[in-house]
Amino acid sequence: MRPGRVVPPSSGRGSAAAIVASPTPEVPDYHRAMVEPSERPDVRVEAFHLADFVHPSESPLAGRPGLVMGYAVCHPDGVLLFDTGIGLGNSEITAWLHARIERLPGLLIGRGIRPEDVQAIANSHLHFDHCGQNLAFPDRPIYAQADEYEATRTNDYTIPEWVDFPGAHFELIRGEHELMPRVRLVPTPGHTPGHQSLLIDAAVGRIAIVGQAVYTRAEWDGSDEPDDSGLHGAWNAVAYRSSRNLLRDFEPDLVLFGHDR
Ligand SMILES: [Zn+2]
Repeated sequence: MRPGRVVPPSSGRGSAAAIVASPTPEVPDYHRAMVEPSERPDVRVEAFHLADFVHPSESPLAGRPGLVMGYAVCHPDGVLLFDTGIGLGNSEITAWLHARIERLPGLLIGRGIRPEDVQAIANSHLHFDHCGQNLAFPDRPIYAQADEYEATRTNDYTIPEWVDFPGAHFELIRGEHELMPRVRLVPTPGHTPGHQSLLIDAAVGRIAIVGQAVYTRAEWDGSDEPDDSGLHGAWNAVAYRSSRNLLRDFEPDLVLFGHDR
C-alpha cells in the first residue's frame, strides 16, 4: 500500500463516501441519567502523548506539526484504553509522517498501570493513528461503532493489519453503550461515519474524551478556523457540527482530545 493514499490524520475524507451516514444523534439520555453525585465512581484518566508527526502534503494542515494522544481510564471496575495511537513497524507510515512514536505499554508502566490489567479497548475511530497499537493488547474486547468497522472495509481507510490482527476481538455497537458504571460511549459521527466519544461522570467531575470529534481545544472554545477545526476535513460536516454540539451539551469539566492536549 502506498502510505500517501491512506487518509491523513487531519482528514475524514477518503474512500468512506460510500458508507451511509448514521442518523444525526438525538438528544441523548445521559445528560439526565448521569447526575447523581453519590453514584459517581472514583475514576482517574491518564493521558499519554503517543506520537508527534508532521502533517503530510495531502492534508489541509500540510507541513504543520501534529500530535497523537491516547488515554487510560482507571475505574474501580478495571482499566480501559481509549485510542492507542500510531502503530510501530510500518516504515512507510513512519517516514510519510516523520513520526516519532511512543510504545503505549511502556508508557502505561511508567504511570503504574500494568498492561496485563487492561481489560478493554475503545477506539474513537479506526484510522491508523487511533487504533495502531491495539495489537499490543490482544484478546481484549475492542469496542467500536459498527458503522466505523464497516468503513474499514473500504480501500485506503486505515492500515488493515492494525485493525484485524490475530487476537483482535471487536465488540461492534450501534449507538450509546455503557462500558462500566458511569462510563459511556456515545456516537459522535462527522469526522468519520462511526466516530464515538467517551463520556465519564466521575467523582471529580464530568470528563469527555472526544477523540477527533473536536480537533483542538481552540475549536472546543469556539474557533472554526481551518487551523483549529476538524470541520473542514470532515467526512460529513452536518454530522460533525451536531456531534460537537452534543458533546458541548454534556457540559464537561474536563475535555480531552485525540490531537491536542
Ligand atoms: Zn481520523
